[in-house]
Amino acid sequence: MSINQVIAQAQEKNANTNEKIIIKAYKFAKKAHEGQKRASGEPYINHPLETAKTLASIGMDTTTISAAILHDVPEDTEHTLTELEKEFGKEIAFLVQGITKLGKIKLRGNKKEYYLENLRKMFLAMAADIRTVVIKLADRYHNMKTLDSLPKEKQYRIAKETMEVYAPIANRLGMGELKGALEDLAFKYVYPQKYQKITKITKEKYQQRKELVNKIIEKIKVILKKEKIKIIDIHGRTKHLYRLYLKLKKHNMNIDEIYDLVAIRIIVPKIRNCYETLGIIHKHYKPLINRIKDYISLPKPNGYKSLHTTIFGPQQGKLLEVQIRTPKMHEEAEFGIAAHWLYSGKKSLINTILKRNITNNKERISQIRKELIWVKQLRNWQKESIEDTEEFFKSLKIDFFNDRIFAFTPAGDVIDLPEGATPIDFAYAIHTEVGNSTIGAKVEGQPVPLNYNIQNGEVIEIVTQKGKTKPDEKWLDFTKTSMAKVKIKDALKKQKKIKI
Ligand code: MN
Repeated sequence: MSINQVIAQAQEKNANTNEKIIIKAYKFAKKAHEGQKRASGEPYINHPLETAKTLASIGMDTTTISAAILHDVPEDTEHTLTELEKEFGKEIAFLVQGITKLGKIKLRGNKKEYYLENLRKMFLAMAADIRTVVIKLADRYHNMKTLDSLPKEKQYRIAKETMEVYAPIANRLGMGELKGALEDLAFKYVYPQKYQKITKITKEKYQQRKELVNKIIEKIKVILKKEKIKIIDIHGRTKHLYRLYLKLKKHNMNIDEIYDLVAIRIIVPKIRNCYETLGIIHKHYKPLINRIKDYISLPKPNGYKSLHTTIFGPQQGKLLEVQIRTPKMHEEAEFGIAAHWLYSGKKSLINTILKRNITNNKERISQIRKELIWVKQLRNWQKESIEDTEEFFKSLKIDFFNDRIFAFTPAGDVIDLPEGATPIDFAYAIHTEVGNSTIGAKVEGQPVPLNYNIQNGEVIEIVTQKGKTKPDEKWLDFTKTSMAKVKIKDALKKQKKIKI
């Protein structure tokens, strides 16, 4: 992997790529990681380069690519974030900071639900700039590809986390291709026997299906040409292995019932052409009833758009899925949120809105752009998984997380606090009663003073005294959150009233 490959990819997908910045980031990172090696024995710099390449291949911007190249610098080398900010500016440093923060946090708690929920919260929090999350996904993607070099227990833990948290997040961001790739990589380590079995039983079928699909593709090309429909691309899409496994489980492992093992994908210029193509295909191949899906009029919750139909192929009983879409739908389905960057230069929601609030302020434009995408993704996220609206609004409010830290209760709950927060802030964030009855605090099991500055990722245990309801007035001098201050004052007032 060389930097030139990264740049070539980036330029192909994104005309606004700034080669100079990317090269500068590369030189800096290369020097910083000099002499370091990955567990596989290869030079460390390969990892950030691979991460950057994934991002370049989906059309992410120069800032994101540069941040990806630098993403392990503050954590693993002697160079600091401040240095990065001086060299590369606020935006890149901010993205790197987000990644570093997420990496530092060791999630606690034994209960699985806690763990996953907390990790999701982290992601939400990091997504003050959604690009942080996208970099994190690309980072994980490469780590999964090189997982073989790690010890067995680590492989399992990382693969499981990938399957349960990272892949669903890629899915929420509409990054279907990355989601499928992450799941397939994890599959091998999480369910090794099932993985072997599936690979064995599908190998031959895949081959047969591919041949059949290729034959039909040739026929469809001829038919569409006759009807004067321009085909931008037509290809066979192989189903991802892990998805296939899940589907097989539903169908008693009968592979003949999987119609989309290899699907035909047709990309045509305009939405109108999608419907025309569907009609033409149905004229030649009978569709299976109830399997015609118009995800253009009714997109999936994650924004997925396409027409799907299952047809009877030329060989009797061979059913095949056909997917029809425009190039834009295709890019969005494959790259999800990244496609918004790809298209942001052209007519888009963003530009329409900008026209309404006429502004040439570059900073404002990029801010609007970020907000729009962020809000849109949050909305999708909510639709799918967060039913609790209060939770949703809380996460919306968690906006600019650069000054936030995350601490944990011994049970594994995440408490988010401003930088400089103390155990008293932590206690009141849990519950007013906990705050009022606090007499001490422990960090990682060691007693600390109540004005201790909590560090990111620490486990805080609050020591309480049963029946104590009066806070100490002095706490007001060092508490950081207004929530704690208000609650302390309240409790003190009540105490005074009782005395009178
Ligand atoms: Mn990394």
